[in-house]
Amino acid sequence: MKFFNSYQELGEEFAVAAQPVPVAEPTLLLLNRPLMANLAIDASEQQLAQILSGNQLHPSSKPVAMAYSGHQFGHFNPYLGDGRAHLLGELQDTQGKHWDLHLKGSGRTPFSRNGDGRCGIGPALREYIMSEAMYHLGVPTTRTLAVCTTGERVFRQLSVPGGVVARVASSHIRVGTFQYFAARDNLPALNKLLDYSIARHYPHIDSQAPDAALQFLDAVMQRQISLMVHWMRVGFIHGVMNTDNCAISGETIDFGPCAMLSIYRPDAVFSSIDRDGRYAFNNQAGIGKWNMARLAEALLPLIDQNQQQAVDKVMPILDSFDQHYTRQYQQMMANKIGLRDIHSEQDAALIGELLALMETLKLDYTHTFSQLGESLTNETVCSSLKASLGQWVERWLARVSADEQAQQLMATTNPVVIPRNHHVERLLSHYEQHAGLADMQDFLQVLSQPYQQSALTGRYQDVPENGDVGYRTFC
Ligand code: AMP
Ligand code: MG
Ligand code: MG
Repeated sequence: MKFFNSYQELGEEFAVAAQPVPVAEPTLLLLNRPLMANLAIDASEQQLAQILSGNQLHPSSKPVAMAYSGHQFGHFNPYLGDGRAHLLGELQDTQGKHWDLHLKGSGRTPFSRNGDGRCGIGPALREYIMSEAMYHLGVPTTRTLAVCTTGERVFRQLSVPGGVVARVASSHIRVGTFQYFAARDNLPALNKLLDYSIARHYPHIDSQAPDAALQFLDAVMQRQISLMVHWMRVGFIHGVMNTDNCAISGETIDFGPCAMLSIYRPDAVFSSIDRDGRYAFNNQAGIGKWNMARLAEALLPLIDQNQQQAVDKVMPILDSFDQHYTRQYQQMMANKIGLRDIHSEQDAALIGELLALMETLKLDYTHTFSQLGESLTNETVCSSLKASLGQWVERWLARVSADEQAQQLMATTNPVVIPRNHHVERLLSHYEQHAGLADMQDFLQVLSQPYQQSALTGRYQDVPENGDVGYRTFC
């Protein structure tokens, strides 16, 4: 195990040296062995329990707390930063790519304000389950290397066991990191951050080119669009898409109050802190665009010294968001019903009418699409769909049945199993109450093959009786 510290080397204004605060009794609760292998980590479990809980530092690691700002629910907070997290450094994977290793819940830092710097075991386990599920669903995401228990308790609404998450990301640079330097009019740092971000995430861009910042904005926006389309495909609701939780790599980051859609409701909101539905399921693309506008704002001084000219240059990029998003969203939805693309108004209508039916009939998002796929070869499933969706099924069959690849397309687009909220909650509260993992390993096993029906899958496909009505998530 060897850490690289390229972000630390950018300088103190980017990240302040901060040591993880040791915990009473560090124990590895979950360890992600495939990810460990990708990262060529050869440490023993004993060593990992020490390093990944923050109790011991690897000699090559230079831990820091990263500085960033962020718009939280639309309100700008210039001074956020890692208040309970430490970047230990980067690990090199077997392909030579660098990945940040970040601890969350590892104690107070200079950015903690009134926080305790800790994380409850419930949210730590949620991050493990959800990030691994997203990874195997094919959605760009940070991953979780491990969850450690601490032998200490943390106080939220109640006293709960503490946990430390070891998170792996292609970086932790956020829209809020750019906002941090823009808000301070620190152009040299802003420029340094841009060059670093380009080198790390968008190496096809020439950072010396006069329009490097514009190209960067466009590239980040394309990844954000693709990410939003993936979220819509699998029914993921992030719940707190603040600009400090929007990674410029285009990965899903910060699994706080996130949830999965069960019964199809376009305006579904589960996050207890999202009182106005700002981050509702069908609002996510709009917020993705809003976040990109905040990134554009932060980049303005690097785009043109004349602010009006800089604005004139970014607007065509931001204005193209909707067109790109709509295009990719429509293609994705077409794939969900077995069409390679939308070729006519009738195709578009098929999708629109299906969603309207699903909403009216309160149908489950995941089930409905996976059953449609199955119905192409299974008479029983087909009849039951006809019973609920009526003549829509006939029209759809008339359109897809000639295409031999329709079923294959649907099978790779529509998961048969997702990390359903009630199973996640059941496992989290089981651990909080009994300090046991129950069927966690089975659940993770099933979630590692979300497009395949296996012997265990059936245990996790049930739709909750109340369709998650009234379900609330907390971070
Ligand atoms: P989040 O909602 O997780 O994106 O966090 C927003 C900000 O609050 C970040 O700066 C976090 O580091 C900080 N924060 C969240 N929880 C804690 C905590 N328990 N102690 C210190 N800082 C925290
Ligand atoms: Mg430059
Ligand atoms: Mg955050």
